[in-house]
Amino acid sequence: MRVLDRAIVRVLPAVPRQVVQRLSARYIAGPSLGDARTTVAALNADAKLATVDVLGEEIARPAEAEAITQAYLDVLEAIQTDGLDANVSVKLTGLGLKLDVDLCRANLESVVRDAGERGRFVRIDMEDSSCTEDTLRLYRDLREGGVDNVGVVLQASLRRTVADVKALGDLRPSVRLCKGIYVEPASIAFQEFEAVRANFLAALEALLANECYPAVATHDEWLIQESLRRLRGLGPEEYELQMLLGVREPRASELVAEGHRLRVYVPFGQRWYEYSLRRLQENPKIAGYVAGDVLGRLVPGRRTD
Ligand SMILES: Cc1cc2nc3c(=O)[nH]c(=O)nc-3n(C[C@H](O)[C@H](O)[C@H](O)COP(=O)(O)OP(=O)(O)OC[C@H]3O[C@@H](n4cnc5c(N)ncnc54)[C@H](O)[C@@H]3O)c2cc1C
Repeated sequence: MRVLDRAIVRVLPAVPRQVVQRLSARYIAGPSLGDARTTVAALNADAKLATVDVLGEEIARPAEAEAITQAYLDVLEAIQTDGLDANVSVKLTGLGLKLDVDLCRANLESVVRDAGERGRFVRIDMEDSSCTEDTLRLYRDLREGGVDNVGVVLQASLRRTVADVKALGDLRPSVRLCKGIYVEPASIAFQEFEAVRANFLAALEALLANECYPAVATHDEWLIQESLRRLRGLGPEEYELQMLLGVREPRASELVAEGHRLRVYVPFGQRWYEYSLRRLQENPKIAGYVAGDVLGRLVPGRRTD
């Protein structure tokens, strides 16, 4: 990232929320379940699959975790009613992980059970490293309890990830592999771009060696190419590629046209702020984007991207 971009990334939390909301609109389906339904239907019409995320991570009370749990049950019902090709992605902190692990477990179980009854799948997102152990333990407990419609996420930035793949190997897990968005210390996480890439491929190779179902989640073109080389020979049902809503959409369409299963991560909800900041901080054109927004407000009618 250029110096100006890095400077803007640092001050983004000080940017007014209204501006953040406007700049990040492309990354979020909208505030309501109806917005998510429309977005997923449009993706399906383009032969793209979806995974729906109810936004909400910094929760403070059990009632909020229960509200998010109920929101997921509503999503699952909507997916079935509309006949959408979609599953859901949950963040365990949103289900109460930091309040009470047993509350979180109960909420997760109710989402996974409901999804199972509807023939749907639940992906447990991975959050910062304070959640890794609990997340993997809750995942293992579910699988050992005979539940199969659930998968997990591993982050290539973490040094432990290849070992985690091997430790999970007996479960033949469905694993979304991503770089990892959270800033972690060098003692536990690779800091250099190339080291994260190398660990991504090492983890993918370990997933394949352990006959896991890999979901390769990256927009990094080099990693997409290198991953596809390693996936060659698998049938189209034996892996998938994943991207975020609003990022590299033309490339996603090309990958679908080439015959790959591609799933788009579709967040929706009122609690858009933290997710939006993370997406903006990752946008390599963030400086131009912010400048464009300012200019767009000064010069009516000018587009901002
Ligand atoms: C489906 C999916 C699910 C994810 N789930 C998790 C999770 O559970 N836990 C977790 O820690 N992380 C998750 N992530 C985020 C991931 O860890 C990375 O932070 C994110 O994908 C950016 O890394 P990258 O591999 O795309 O590579 P990068 O090197 O960051 O990006 C490669 C290129 O993609 C484009 N690009 C990337 N981001 C943007 C953006 N916001 N706006 C515009 N262009 C962009 C740019 O052209 C950039 O050069 C997920 C990512 C995806 C795709």
